[in-house]
Amino acid sequence: KLVVICTISGGCYVAYADANGTGSAPPVLEEIKKKKVVVLGTGWAGTSFLKKLNNPSYDVQVISPRNYFAFTPLLPSVTCGTVEARSIVEPIRSIVRKKSIDIRYWEAECFKIEAENKKVHCRPNSESSKNGKEEFVVDYDYLIIAMGARPNTFNTPGVVENCNFLKEVEDAQQIRQSVINSFEKASLPTFSDEERKRILHFVVVGGGPTGVEFAAELHDFVNEDLVKLYPAAKDFVKITLLEASDHILNMFDKRITGFAEEKFQRDGIDVKLGSMVVKVSDKEISTKVRGNDGEITTIPYGMVVWSTGNGTHPVIKDFMQQIGQSNRRALATDEWLRVEGCSTIYALGDCATVNQRKVMEDIAAIFKKADKDNSGTLTVKEFREVIKDICERYPQVELYLKNKKMRDLVDLLKMAKGDVAKEAIELNIEEFKKALSEVDSQMKNLPATAQVAAQQGTYLANCFNRMEEAEKNPEGPIRFREEGRHRFHPFRYKHLGQFAPLGGEQTAAQLPGDWVSIGQSSQWLWYSVYASKLVSWRTRVLVISDWTRRFVFGRDSSGI
Ligand code: FAD
Repeated sequence: KLVVICTISGGCYVAYADANGTGSAPPVLEEIKKKKVVVLGTGWAGTSFLKKLNNPSYDVQVISPRNYFAFTPLLPSVTCGTVEARSIVEPIRSIVRKKSIDIRYWEAECFKIEAENKKVHCRPNSESSKNGKEEFVVDYDYLIIAMGARPNTFNTPGVVENCNFLKEVEDAQQIRQSVINSFEKASLPTFSDEERKRILHFVVVGGGPTGVEFAAELHDFVNEDLVKLYPAAKDFVKITLLEASDHILNMFDKRITGFAEEKFQRDGIDVKLGSMVVKVSDKEISTKVRGNDGEITTIPYGMVVWSTGNGTHPVIKDFMQQIGQSNRRALATDEWLRVEGCSTIYALGDCATVNQRKVMEDIAAIFKKADKDNSGTLTVKEFREVIKDICERYPQVELYLKNKKMRDLVDLLKMAKGDVAKEAIELNIEEFKKALSEVDSQMKNLPATAQVAAQQGTYLANCFNRMEEAEKNPEGPIRFREEGRHRFHPFRYKHLGQFAPLGGEQTAAQLPGDWVSIGQSSQWLWYSVYASKLVSWRTRVLVISDWTRRFVFGRDSSGI
């Protein structure tokens, strides 16, 4: 007799009872094991994976030091009280509660990944765990690393000790308090005007989207709300934005960069381009200005916000060392988001990147396979087939061609090599590969954005949902190292555009097809897109009511 027992914890057992029904022999219990999936992180990538996963044949464990998902695009708004911190977070338990599959959450951080034994070592957030007593180990069949990144300080002395970062919700709350504290401090009778100037000098390091948006938010907060409450402070406040390269918002269209720089100039935000920070002390920030013979300039400040991009978590660094990737900033994956050399470990979001070197090797192999007569040349027809194959396998190549408004790689070759007659020639493979590697550096990796992380999470969940089905009926491109097809199509990023809020109800939007819009209409587009992207109806209602409250009453400036 066969009995199948399903337990509350999700395990299934098969019991074989004695066939003659005497019941004297004890039943043999044998667990039908579900595959264990461990997800590290509850950010954009991890949460979108969990939201889309709906195959009940997995036993899922989620490990993250924060028990909520945070809508990071609204973090700059939290720094000035335009939106409240609680409005942009959703408990992860409430997200997974709605799922019909087994998902358990542990509030802990992973401090070691042991790829060889398929284990992750974790410790809870609590103080008592510091002595190591509460550490625990979790086994996995599949590991999904979605731990994001930490702020990159470039090892600049004094940054960790003296600067504020803007990465987590707590950072945004801390900044809000520091700004208000600076205004209260500068109002005390004990300070000279010179000191007041220093205290009310806010410096933002990094002219990327986050730094620019924060500078714009701060400018609005000061001019729309704080100067009314601290009228004497008006003449002392200054905002400076330091950027090491030639322009702010480098990744945006030139029209947006130009508009932002001009707007900041009109608003009185001092944008110092070509300024590389070399040291931060408790009261001064030292910069090396390009073209100044390496001369160091020191700027007195009251508060610094450091926003210069992504660095690597120590646990990821350690893992990269184990698997021979120690010279990289992020985990190298293949186009199916599998960590290179680890068939059961996936990495998504800010902590991962598709390995470009491998892309070039693979492209070379595709050519080799197409060159059937080993002549070292391809006809244009064969060549076009190869391009189709490359684009199917490497969406970033296709994206690159689209961005450059090129129809195919022949145009790319033309760009790299000068004139190539498109129709009548036979293409020399070696020449082509050389040309391709010259422009390789321009085929940039995917940006570290929420958009990429969320799409990767959704893609991977869809793969996991169809794992068994795709095992039987592979749907991916033809393998060129082995026979048959890949199980899945590779990850394909769909760029939906990007925004740069510039303050004063002005936003720049760069939408697909290089469509650029700047002004108040884009601000309304920004409001509607972000409201629609919020993770739940609760957060949507809270954020919209925060925006309405700000329009009617202004931002709250109490220091709590
Ligand atoms: P995250 O969302 O950072 O999540 C990482 C998760 O890993 C967190 O849950 C964290 O607690 C967890 N974790 C960390 N360490 C451990 C550990 N040791 N063990 C287990 N778990 C761990 N992108 C856009 O597309 N548009 C925007 O407008 C935008 N604005 C932004 C504004 C700000 C201020 C910031 C900071 C970022 C912004 N981004 C924006 C970028 C976007 O937030 C990131 O690209 C995105 O969060 C990356 O998602 P992720 O899942 O990789 O990492």
